[in-house]
Amino acid sequence: MKRVLLGLLAAALPVAAHAATADGIIRHVTLIDVAQGRALPNRAVAWRGGDVVAVGPDAAVARAWRAKRSVEGKGKFLIPGLWDMHVHFGGGPELIEENKALLALYVANGITTIRDCSGDLPDQVLAWRGEIARGTLFGPRLLSSGAKLEGIKPIWKGTLEVGSKADVDAAIAHERQVGVDFVKITDSTLDPRLFLYAVSKARQAGLRVSGHIPMQDTIAEAVDAGISSIEHMDYAYKAGVKDEARLSADFAAGRIDRPKLSAEIDAGFDRETAMAAYRNLAAKHVFVTPTLTISRTTAFLDRDDHSHDPELAYIGPGLRKTYDWRIQRAASATPAEVAARHAHFEHLAAILPLLQKAGVTIIAGTDAGFLNSFDYPGFALHQELGLFVKYGLTPGQALASATRAGPAWFGQLDRYGAVAPGKSADLVLLDRNPLQDIAATKAIRMVVLKGKALDRAALDGLLADARTKVAAWNKAQR
Ligand SMILES: [Zn+2]
Repeated sequence: MKRVLLGLLAAALPVAAHAATADGIIRHVTLIDVAQGRALPNRAVAWRGGDVVAVGPDAAVARAWRAKRSVEGKGKFLIPGLWDMHVHFGGGPELIEENKALLALYVANGITTIRDCSGDLPDQVLAWRGEIARGTLFGPRLLSSGAKLEGIKPIWKGTLEVGSKADVDAAIAHERQVGVDFVKITDSTLDPRLFLYAVSKARQAGLRVSGHIPMQDTIAEAVDAGISSIEHMDYAYKAGVKDEARLSADFAAGRIDRPKLSAEIDAGFDRETAMAAYRNLAAKHVFVTPTLTISRTTAFLDRDDHSHDPELAYIGPGLRKTYDWRIQRAASATPAEVAARHAHFEHLAAILPLLQKAGVTIIAGTDAGFLNSFDYPGFALHQELGLFVKYGLTPGQALASATRAGPAWFGQLDRYGAVAPGKSADLVLLDRNPLQDIAATKAIRMVVLKGKALDRAALDGLLADARTKVAAWNKAQR
């Protein structure tokens, strides 16, 4: 009886006398439960400092919380902040400012966390990570691999070069000492056996690990060594080849060259083999980051004219110059090579639904940054999600890849990956329902980053500032 009375009293008052104070509240919003892929209408979400403090039916939350700022969310949709799990910063020390200017582009696009997969400015990026965390630099939460491990004299700069097991041990000790968020390993000159050794040592040191798997190793060997995620579809594709072990051995022994290996992979891809390999990935909790956007963009450079892309206005001249590498490579291709590239992209994209069906967690990541032509930081994530749906995921699955997969990979679902009390106040308010049309992730009305609300005008301000900076750099170049 007493409870009923209290309930009636509370219902009669807009805000209960004992209401707690929140910094912000979004009312009457349709909340997207990204774990279940369902929409929950007429909810209210309140946050205080960097934490979500209340989520529930609008009337109940509004009664219990008095907020300094109230946002009308009627007709709008709320999702957790987006994660781009594969980005890069780099291009040399002279491009530090141009790289720094990319940070705001992520936030303006609803991305509240990025995973930096290493470039040639590892110390700079680790410094930014700290500045962003302390609030002295504006940007999305930044997680970084620091310097990646490579072989001796690799094509990449800013790496930890390893030529022996002792070198690997020292490199892993260094990574632990600087406090990287995970370890990235690439293989331009790295010995394939040392790659496997490095993966296992990183795991033994308690670090997650990802990288480019040497073609001499099988994907199963990398999985057994303990790799935590596979970047780029090419490796998942190779895992689906019937004779992968023989091909890897032939390539290692020099019996076949790289073009022959590629041809054999195309010829040997087998759906049953692939499904067995992908079920193995799922069982061992190895996630896959397809990075379809960059594969598609580079495969179709012959056909797509990017010279008028509006996003170019956000990319500094030095970074734009790093695009030339891929553009020139594409321009020198023969018609047969161009056709092969188009077909190859379709082959890669076609395995996306197989991975999903096998239970592999698919991670949204773009490979945006430097070198990767027309793969625009911030904007590209929405393109990636669009490709995920085009090639067979549901919009809900695509949304989960950009909100749940990242936190799951880092073991941070207690703090991220949902809109719920106790979670970080990283939120994106959309004008349209992303479960109906994934392109709705671009219809951003507001971003809340660690409790700081940025409305549409503030987001447009970030974009305008970025364009102004780039325009000034362009002018200085001329
Ligand atoms: Zn990359």
